[in-house]
Amino acid sequence: MCKHILNAQVAIRAPCCKQWYDCAECHAEKEDHRLRKTNEMAFMCKKCKKAFRKDMTAYEESDEYCPHCDNHYVIEAKTPQAAIGVEGDDPRINSKLLKDERVKEDKFRSLFAQDTTDRLG
Ligand SMILES: [Zn+2]
Ligand SMILES: [Zn+2]
Ligand SMILES: [Zn+2]
Repeated sequence: MCKHILNAQVAIRAPCCKQWYDCAECHAEKEDHRLRKTNEMAFMCKKCKKAFRKDMTAYEESDEYCPHCDNHYVIEAKTPQAAIGVEGDDPRINSKLLKDERVKEDKFRSLFAQDTTDRLG
């Protein structure tokens, strides 16, 4: 069970070790190798439990939905930090801005596409 993305809608099959993971961080914790990137990702919808594949090079907005049950699986990731942030209700701390930055970053994290840490050059 993924503790990084609390609302993960899909599991993704890591192309390197053929294991199903909810997010790239789960992979990093369990495996000692780097997640391999692939152009064709294998997903499994958590709602209907059916697997499907997506060509990430031709990824469009309509591809954010499960082809079997239409579940919108690319959603803003709900992380443990974000959940805590909601409780801390101090108006002096405008965490909204910070959080929005984070959300943008997190949106694709559960889809592994976020693993773009390869430096240029
Ligand atoms: Zn792997
Ligand atoms: Zn995780
Ligand atoms: Zn589905």
